[in-house]
Amino acid sequence: MRAAVFCEPGIVKVEDRVAPVAGPGEVLLEVNACGVCGTDRHVYEGSYPARFPVIPGHEFAGTVAAVGAGVTAFAKGDRIAVDPNIPCSKCRFCRAGLVHFCTDQRAIGLQIDGGFAPMASVPESQAYKLPDSVTLDQAAMVEPLACAVHGIDRARIQPGASVAILGAGAIGLLMIQLARAAGASTIVVSEPRESRRRLAVEFGADVTVDPRAESVEEILRHETEFGVDVAIEAVGLPTTARQAFDLVRPAGTVLIFGCCDPNDEISVRPYDIYRRELTVVGTFVNPFTTDRAIKMLASGQVKVEPLFSHRLGVDQMEQAMALHGSGESIKILIDPTI
Ligand SMILES: [Zn+2]
Ligand SMILES: [Zn+2]
Repeated sequence: MRAAVFCEPGIVKVEDRVAPVAGPGEVLLEVNACGVCGTDRHVYEGSYPARFPVIPGHEFAGTVAAVGAGVTAFAKGDRIAVDPNIPCSKCRFCRAGLVHFCTDQRAIGLQIDGGFAPMASVPESQAYKLPDSVTLDQAAMVEPLACAVHGIDRARIQPGASVAILGAGAIGLLMIQLARAAGASTIVVSEPRESRRRLAVEFGADVTVDPRAESVEEILRHETEFGVDVAIEAVGLPTTARQAFDLVRPAGTVLIFGCCDPNDEISVRPYDIYRRELTVVGTFVNPFTTDRAIKMLASGQVKVEPLFSHRLGVDQMEQAMALHGSGESIKILIDPTI
């Protein structure tokens, strides 16, 4: 099979690989499509831990082509989405229900070959059957959506809440829909690109701001008087992470969703956190939220088709990395049948 391979940081090649087989406890998937994510680009650039060489790609769904020994819950022809994060189930964190802090975690597309290939084999524990109302293309968004659901859980958005979302990339656009579903009454989105602001409105933002032309803080004061209940950083830059602190009201919550460079720093006044009783919350991956993500797609509460900006083949990975870096794309799907 023809697979995209990250050989070492900065080097992506298309290689002829022997297709995987369904080992014991595994399901072999014919991949329909696999989304390109910021994490893929961090791995490509060498700033996120991964095994090299690896077939990347962790946002995928497909059809079961074969099942390995001992697999009873799945059969050939089933349509499934994949949760790429595999916990060991034995360590202290796994046993405390904190699987995303597993000390021996492996992830499909990072340490194990992933979805930028026509076939991928995954442990049955990571496979989720799809209802008929969810298409395989939609299901490529299950993993990022599950991560966003965990973020919304962590931010504890309540009915009537006001929410600011910094960044209207794929995650920001999912966050708009989830914040609304969680009961937010006012959603303000800050995003420099006009095309993305238009999508933000389409997805239900009440107000959009171009942070290069207008003051986000001023517009928020106008909309919410004292600032928002929850500010969500969905860019992964220190400037927007810092800005989130200035947008929340006293006793507000700052949710850091975007993945900054590990060495980035921001300066925050402890007095401000003390005096205004701010809550700062991180959110990492998708513990136990995959099933809910699938339900939100099935119910139509979250729409993902407008996010698909490009559909490329496995031999166009280098182009995909450049496109992702340019900010011209929203969600690139790699379709191994192209
Ligand atoms: Zn991802
Ligand atoms: Zn563990």
